Amino acid sequence: MKLNEALSIKTENRIAAMDEAERRRAELHLRLPRVKTIDDLLREIPMRALVGESVEELRAESDALASEREQILASCGYDKDYDAPKFDCPDCNDGGYCGIKLCHCVRELMSVENYRASSLAGGLLDKTFESFSLSYYAQGPERDHMETVLEGCKLYADKFPNDNAAGLYFYGGTGLGKTHLTAAIANVVSAKGLSVIYESAQQIFDTVEAVRFNRADISERKKYENCALLIIDDLGAECMSQYSVSAITSIIDMRIVNGKKTLISSNLNHNGLKKSYGERLFSRVVGEFRLFSFVGTDIRLQKIKGVKD
Ligand SMILES: [Zn+2]
Repeated sequence: MKLNEALSIKTENRIAAMDEAERRRAELHLRLPRVKTIDDLLREIPMRALVGESVEELRAESDALASEREQILASCGYDKDYDAPKFDCPDCNDGGYCGIKLCHCVRELMSVENYRASSLAGGLLDKTFESFSLSYYAQGPERDHMETVLEGCKLYADKFPNDNAAGLYFYGGTGLGKTHLTAAIANVVSAKGLSVIYESAQQIFDTVEAVRFNRADISERKKYENCALLIIDDLGAECMSQYSVSAITSIIDMRIVNGKKTLISSNLNHNGLKKSYGERLFSRVVGEFRLFSFVGTDIRLQKIKGVKD
């Protein structure tokens, strides 16, 4: 999504919030004539200040009117903000800018929409918790284990971002449901309006390298530090360099410091992780992440062989 599209969505939100506030105010005025009188009086106050009335007296009058209004609303069962516009973003009132700076909500919106567009193209939107089938796992300890994993993931997504773990680490072989549950979490988080970046470790390294050699803007790297949920898919499958290892570790460090969540999916268990990525990343993951192992028999192969869903 382009910036002008995101800004025009914000503007539509803003207009809708103001229209709704207007409608509510008209409703109050119809039901409670005294509130209408108060609002008319309040509107005249700035004008009276301009023609020389005492500012202190006007302020006292205005405070008294406002508190009378609040009391009337409360006694009729209305919230005191009943007819105040309800903007999605309190920081910019859906104007899109804080002063001359672009508001964070616009960046988030672009990122949520970009996630939607890319996940739609990648067929990830239909991978939900509801469509995750436990029947591919052998009855007994294997299925019980995966049921626990499924519940853990659901809970994490529901509570997101209020979970004390810095993230989740999914590990296990190919075709055991890692992508499905990753997408299910991403879909729930993105539906909350939070920004999700879902990329393979290789894509992230390519971008980081491009920034390093000035082939891409620094903001391309910053997005990995700032999004609400960063999903690093297929860690361990990429071509690694000393630089890429240290880059990914520092992105994860930065996110932990800023209280941002990360989901890593990998075919490496924690020992493999230590061997390939070194002590620093290993200790972050083991110390700060919740680890989920994926077990079973490759679901993609089962589907090809026609095992029933
Ligand atoms: Zn905003």
